[in-house]
Amino acid sequence: MIYQAIIIGGGPAGLMAANVFNENQIKYILLEKNDKVGKKLLITGGGRANVTNTLSVQNFIDELDFKHKKFLYPSLTKFGPLDIIDFFLSKGVKLKLEEPIKYFPETNKSQSVLDALLDSIPENCIHLKENVISIEKDKSLFTIKTNKYAYQSEHIVVATGSKSFPETGSNGDGNAFASKFGIATKSFTPAETSIYGYIDQIPYQSLKGTQIKDSILYINGKKTPFKDDLIFTHFGLSGPLIYKASHRIYNVLKQGKRQISFPLTKMNQSEILAFFDKHKNETKYVKNILSSIIPNKLASYIVDKSNYQEKAFNTLTKKDIQILVEYICDFKVNISHVEDIKRAYVNAGGVDTKSINPNSFQTNQVKNLYFVGEAIDIFGPIGGFNITMALSTAYSAANDIVKKMKLK
Ligand SMILES: Cc1cc2nc3c(=O)[nH]c(=O)nc-3n(C[C@H](O)[C@H](O)[C@H](O)COP(=O)(O)OP(=O)(O)OC[C@H]3O[C@@H](n4cnc5c(N)ncnc54)[C@H](O)[C@@H]3O)c2cc1C
Repeated sequence: MIYQAIIIGGGPAGLMAANVFNENQIKYILLEKNDKVGKKLLITGGGRANVTNTLSVQNFIDELDFKHKKFLYPSLTKFGPLDIIDFFLSKGVKLKLEEPIKYFPETNKSQSVLDALLDSIPENCIHLKENVISIEKDKSLFTIKTNKYAYQSEHIVVATGSKSFPETGSNGDGNAFASKFGIATKSFTPAETSIYGYIDQIPYQSLKGTQIKDSILYINGKKTPFKDDLIFTHFGLSGPLIYKASHRIYNVLKQGKRQISFPLTKMNQSEILAFFDKHKNETKYVKNILSSIIPNKLASYIVDKSNYQEKAFNTLTKKDIQILVEYICDFKVNISHVEDIKRAYVNAGGVDTKSINPNSFQTNQVKNLYFVGEAIDIFGPIGGFNITMALSTAYSAANDIVKKMKLK
């Protein structure tokens, strides 16, 4: 039998393509190497799947941190956050908003999201435990070989994900398939993850659990566009601010630059100076005054580091005050490395977007071969961006195939 389309990979991208094919009576199958589909989807959002967000297409794209982000305009315009909310509603899954922007299923269970994606797909269209080993093209037909069988199809949608969390099945096969056809790819690199680092000789352990709200990140003294919460861990730094910046940090580390810094309070320098001035006659220990504007553990760290443990606040010199202000406004951390690609929630890298038509997701080099989802060189911050991009790109690709079939 010759299929009209074969989808490789049963993550959110592959399953969305299957929904479009199903609705349009396309003769298709989906090949998934695992014994079930959606293994990664089930662990997203702490098992609750943050499937999309409230952002307009423009604001969604503004939040992305890679140069070629405009590539996503056409697909997000065709199928963006509002369409995703409608799609799940049409399958009986209501999404609820968690401020400020995240949408989760009302059930708080990612399984509901997976069930909705599977709702209209006939069981016999999904072939489990079929690991695609090769894709070849002869004239207008593709031959796909798996660990079990060989299949023929007119169109192929590659939705194999990246290399993040390989235990869920994503191990970067998309890049290998593309390379075989001479299609340009970018190596997968970590994004949306934690970083390892050190501050002087003081171990992070002592600061573990300390959170800073709404901080701003500087990389080598340069202000980045990232503003969010961060948290000290036993090995380094984590939290939304660090996740957002981790890919950029990964790239500057490659240039040998190791230092990042951030303020420890929302107060600006003049507000801190005014606060210190107000307390200049206080006989309390420096640490006690500091801990009313920064977290306690950081106040202890700063007084230890500056040898102010036994000092009363009213004995501080102008120079001492300057040192404190510098610590508070520009707290420096040296990075040793970014979390491994396999443990990063998302990966940058994948098929080069220059090789893909942003309207159809068909590759420029090979007619009827499509790449979608995280298999492409796109990535977003936490907040439902990545599942949205997976669903949106797959929707465009599958509809392009439907259009072609209808024109035949
Ligand atoms: C812990 C964690 C939490 C996350 N939380 C969120 C969140 O809340 N919101 C959000 O937007 N994003 C989140 N993400 C990111 C999101 O899960 C991914 O971006 C998204 O799943 C990508 O979808 P995809 O369909 O492109 O790829 P995947 O979900 O990776 O699916 C790829 C599928 O292809 C299969 N496959 C691979 N190679 C082959 C082959 N050769 N043959 C057959 N099958 C193959 C795999 O087994 C897999 O099932 C999270 C990621 C992680 C790891």
